[in-house]
Amino acid sequence: MKKLREIIRLMFPVAAKRFPLFFPLEALKTLCDILRPFVAIFTTPLIVDELVGGRDLTKLFIYAGVLVGGEFLLNAIRQLSVTQLQKYKERLDNYFKELTSEHAMGLDFQLTEDKKMLDQLEKANTGMSWYSDGVYGISEQVFMFIGNAIKIVGLVTVIALHAPLLLAVIVVCVLLQAVLNMKINKVEVKAFERLSKVNRMFGYYGWEMTDFRYGKDIRLYDASHMLLDKWDSFGEESFQGWKWQADTSRKYALLQGAVSLFENAFVYGYTGLKTIVGAFSLGIFTQMLTATDSLFGTLGGLANNITELMKRINYAYEFVIFMNYPQAMPKGDKPVPQGQHRIEFRNVSFAYPNTDQKVLSGVNLTVEKGERLSVVGLNGAGKTTLIKLLCRLYDPTEGQILLDGTDIREYDYAQYMKQFSPVFQDFRLFGFSVCENITLKDRENLDEKDRRCVSGLLKQAGLDKFAEKLDSGEDTKLFKYMDEEGIEPSGGEQQKLALARALYKDAPVIILDEPTAALDPVAEYEIYKQFNSLIQDKTAFYISHRLSSCRFCDHIAVFSEGRVAEYGTHEELVNIPDGIYAGMFEAQAQYYR
Ligand code: ADP
Repeated sequence: MKKLREIIRLMFPVAAKRFPLFFPLEALKTLCDILRPFVAIFTTPLIVDELVGGRDLTKLFIYAGVLVGGEFLLNAIRQLSVTQLQKYKERLDNYFKELTSEHAMGLDFQLTEDKKMLDQLEKANTGMSWYSDGVYGISEQVFMFIGNAIKIVGLVTVIALHAPLLLAVIVVCVLLQAVLNMKINKVEVKAFERLSKVNRMFGYYGWEMTDFRYGKDIRLYDASHMLLDKWDSFGEESFQGWKWQADTSRKYALLQGAVSLFENAFVYGYTGLKTIVGAFSLGIFTQMLTATDSLFGTLGGLANNITELMKRINYAYEFVIFMNYPQAMPKGDKPVPQGQHRIEFRNVSFAYPNTDQKVLSGVNLTVEKGERLSVVGLNGAGKTTLIKLLCRLYDPTEGQILLDGTDIREYDYAQYMKQFSPVFQDFRLFGFSVCENITLKDRENLDEKDRRCVSGLLKQAGLDKFAEKLDSGEDTKLFKYMDEEGIEPSGGEQQKLALARALYKDAPVIILDEPTAALDPVAEYEIYKQFNSLIQDKTAFYISHRLSSCRFCDHIAVFSEGRVAEYGTHEELVNIPDGIYAGMFEAQAQYYR
């Protein structure tokens, strides 16, 4: 009940606000459902008794008219509301998917690598669509429940007036059916839990295998066998899950059949005998049969309704859990000071969630306003992690990061995020237009100024030739996802587009985290040089396992095994005997001399 309350509280007002006619239509449909059986229950005995008694044609016409006309009218109104309601099914589904994605995109970054959260997202999505039909499915069941409950009160009253014993037997049988139904549903819920992980893995392999960006690697490393084998083994696991469900629920389904047989036999036997001994008129006999038949249907419907509702609640509740997913990182409300920033790492240590190994330990580092710091070190030294902490994708396990003297956790999160223009090594471009990729604004929100700015940036980022190839100018889509005419930029062009995106954001702190790793050292050096001249007097972090960027920087921090092993200017560091930097420089000097 608590779950249902929470679901209704979270989903219904949102749905009603977006689709105001949805709930009134459900109510209209339910009203027709309630009234429908009573038309026959009250008119049929009148017709039968009139046929075997007075045989008054006018009366017979009136009764038959009420019966046929009433049922027709109720059916027509019901059918109209159902067709109208069906139109909302997909729209509601899409709307709640949108809400789920919106929430997922706003979650703490560290949760995006959390297996439990990923399972929860999968459960929320499948739970809302396949298994519960979302708001549509839940409200359908809630309204049906209310309608059935009202109908039962009416039918029980009609039967109780003539045959209380019959009523008692029906109630016992229906309770038995409900217990069996519950057992079947429990099995289904268990199967759903078992299958949610398999489904996620299944989806992952399906996506990897069909995404053409992976096509090169799959072909050249002949990975298709491995992927297909994995796909097969997940397919088998999924099949075993479904098989277990079918095998386990079969015996309950057979028992349900037996109970149903007994019910029918009793009703006909009992009312038939009562009529033979003259306790019931033929009209009452028919009325009892129609009413019990309807009560069976409604009670069975209600039992199904309750179990179905409980099942759907359990599935839809996964959405509630997901929407309430805790924000792990504390977020402050202090405004971030305007202008350039001084950044200080004070004794910062860090281990990734669910791991013990310290990736950074006791890092002390200061970057003054407008300073350029080059962070170098071998792969795995902890350079990217340092940046992830600065960008609040994770929080330090120990120590503090200060921006203009204040712990970054105290700042308003959204405002703080606006301070950085990072380009990560694994940056992502979207299958949208060039302009949208750079501005991250939807097409409708782009004005002339944005467009001018984008064409200027394309030039500055060295993409003149690329811009000439664009059939629809900056509105040309990247990749082929959205548009068959979309352009496939080369690796180098993608990196430059990512740089243009960072320049467009125009934040006070620039971060380049090896976005040029795929380029050769000389090309990398050229890009850093060009970029360095574009960012004017901004504070900048240049991260690389090569030394391409060091020449433009005021200071260089050399990372080794999570610590700042060396710090100073290029001149200072090359002169440290047996120094890490000196060694790296010696090995790479051919590129930079
Ligand atoms: P660098 O940028 O210097 O190459 P990183 O900061 O990316 O190094 O990685 C430092 C260490 O942290 C590596 O050993 C890496 O395997 C580990 N690491 C990076 N990301 C994660 C993560 N999400 N979970 C666990 N360990 C990670």
